[in-house]
This record gives sequence, structure tokens and C-alpha cells, in this order.
Amino acid sequence: MHISQTMAECDCQHDACAARKYCMAAEIERLRAALTEAKNCLDGEPDYHSCGMGCGLEDRGITDRYAAMEHGWCSAIERMQEQHVSGALEIISAALEVNP
Ligand SMILES: [Zn+2]
Repeated sequence: MHISQTMAECDCQHDACAARKYCMAAEIERLRAALTEAKNCLDGEPDYHSCGMGCGLEDRGITDRYAAMEHGWCSAIERMQEQHVSGALEIISAALEVNP
């Protein structure tokens, strides 16, 4: 049985599903798969490259330690967003857009 099927395509015998016109078990499975994929995206953290971070400071002529800290913070947030958060958000958004 494919996920997100309507009852017209689904041969499950769940009374509750028939009342709602879609198979709840399939819908739960679809959402669980999306959550699992999103969780995998969120796992881990970007590697720290001291050389790359140092170059970032030099390229920008940053010598003030507070400015350096802000640059490091912004770089880390940006990398987390790119490598972990945005992928998870896409998966969750796509899963929520499907109307059973
Ligand atoms: Zn069902």
C-alpha cells in the first residue's frame, strides 16, 4: 500500500480510516518517514576548520577580538543552516503540504 492514498485506492479495513476517507496508518507512516529523514538531517554538526576560519578573518581584515567572535558566530550559524537545518525544514514543509 502506498502512503497517502485515498480510501478509493486503499484496501485497508480500518473503520476509522473509512470515516476519514484516508488510511491513517499510511498517513502516520508517511509522517514518520519524513520525521526520521528530517532528524537524520539535523544530526551532527559542521566540522571546524581552523585554517578556513583564520583565512576568513584575514580576508576581512578582522583584528578586533569581538569582531572575530561575531564573524565566528555568524559563520557557524550559516554553516549549521546550510548543512543541517535547511534540509530538515524542506522535508518537514513538504510533508505538511500533502493533504491526505
Ligand atoms: Zn487504514
